[in-house]
Amino acid sequence: MPNMQKEKTPMREQAPDVRNAIFTEVALGYTYEEAVNEAARCLNCKNPLCIQGCPVGVKIPDFISLLAGGDVDGAYKKIKETNALPAVCGRVCPQEKQCESKCVRGIRGEPIAVGRLERFAADNASDEAKKDAAEPVKNGIKIAVVGSGPSSLTCAGDLAKMGYDVRVFEALHKPGGVLVYGIPEFRLPKSIVADEIAAIEKLGVAVECDVVVGRALTVDELFDEGYKAVFVGSGAGLPSFMGIPGENSNGVFSANEFLTRVNLMKAYDPDYDTPIKRGGTVVVVGGGNVAMDAARCAKRLGGDVKIVYRRSEAEMPARAEEVCHAKEEGIEFLTLNNPVKINADEKGNTVSVTCIRMELGEPDEQGRRRPVPIEGSEYDLEAQTVIMAIGNSPNPLIRMTTPGLETNRRGCFVTSEDGVTTTREGVFAGGDAVTGAATVILAMGAGKKAAEAIDGYVKANPR
Ligand code: FAD
Ligand code: SF4
Repeated sequence: MPNMQKEKTPMREQAPDVRNAIFTEVALGYTYEEAVNEAARCLNCKNPLCIQGCPVGVKIPDFISLLAGGDVDGAYKKIKETNALPAVCGRVCPQEKQCESKCVRGIRGEPIAVGRLERFAADNASDEAKKDAAEPVKNGIKIAVVGSGPSSLTCAGDLAKMGYDVRVFEALHKPGGVLVYGIPEFRLPKSIVADEIAAIEKLGVAVECDVVVGRALTVDELFDEGYKAVFVGSGAGLPSFMGIPGENSNGVFSANEFLTRVNLMKAYDPDYDTPIKRGGTVVVVGGGNVAMDAARCAKRLGGDVKIVYRRSEAEMPARAEEVCHAKEEGIEFLTLNNPVKINADEKGNTVSVTCIRMELGEPDEQGRRRPVPIEGSEYDLEAQTVIMAIGNSPNPLIRMTTPGLETNRRGCFVTSEDGVTTTREGVFAGGDAVTGAATVILAMGAGKKAAEAIDGYVKANPR
């Protein structure tokens, strides 16, 4: 008999007033008893709708029923059949919009906590279970992968399992993409990402850091070096700014730069000499997950943090859980407000932000009500740091240095119907570089699809 408890088994978290000053992980994960209790809620449906909601097709009821029977290693191996990064996905995937949104238990209560169970299996499987099968037999065909975010890691891992000789070229000094430079330690510990990358390297994937493709070597040069196909998973790391007066004052950061300094360059650790502003009043502009991450980092660095967002909370694109965590940690939300000017002192240091109050007008093309400024409502908000978190687009470098590789007006690679074949023969792309800023699991789904497309391409063009 399944456990008919209506609510998800709760997951323990660090108390808000403790965690808002430290960078250790907020969510503490399930105990064995909690995981088995939650797994027993699954109905093991004959037609499991949850799988349809998973871009990498994890066999959800199968792994959950193994967990319900106490077989943690079996559950982990089942997830790994289709998902190369289970400990990452269990922590950061928006399950409420994917597998869990389709779960039938959600009709009369809360859906199964698929993400929490995935995380439990990944964190608690034995070392024995985590040892991947022997390195696949190599076919001697070289494939280059640009970038090392979730799309590239998935593509590289799947190709290596098929026998290809895969080399990843990463511009930064550490692999992982946004998983290491964007998402903070308190949501996704870096050691978890490093372990999952190590498992992919064990499949025979070589990872070379500090190589900017388009500068150090071009896509054409990769073909000259004998690579049969190239996958480009270069992400969407180019930050947008508002274009308002004063935006180049000292103390104004893009969220990307701020988060990279905090995460990748360890600005949170006083032993590291990373230039960053600590404390004071910090204004974060935006209402997405990136804004929440930047605000929560700034809070942990001692800031008095305010989020300024031009629509109301109902329109915020950030996950509800992230908004709730940010509020619990003492971050103030100034919704229906928009910056119009950043003011600096005579030395160029930011001292305040002029904001205007907004109201909601008619819906836009996406159905979200358009924010309209209320004339004459401007006021000054004190701020020593301003963090712009209003969106990112792909960097144009690879397109500019690769003849025949086309992008659309948003700077994303143009692909054929399969979503991964670009306009340049032998070049495939996926993840944020194709869709614009999206999610980890969608990037992984694209990496998987690209690995299949590359395999098909190589087999169809054997010379
Ligand atoms: P990326 O992860 O961006 O990786 C691209 C890699 O390519 C980078 O390492 C980059 O250095 C490298 N690169 C770029 N150009 C070159 C070049 N010319 N040569 C060599 N290497 C290059 N998604 C979620 O699902 N859940 C979340 O909670 C979540 N939180 C987020 C928080 C933040 C702060 C940010 C910024 C994003 C978040 N996302 C989240 C979105 C998610 O991280 C991305 O959608 C995902 O990482 C995209 O993967 P990708 O492989 O396409 O690219
Ligand atoms: Fe279990 Fe929900 Fe999937 Fe059914 S839809 S198999 S209850 S997780």
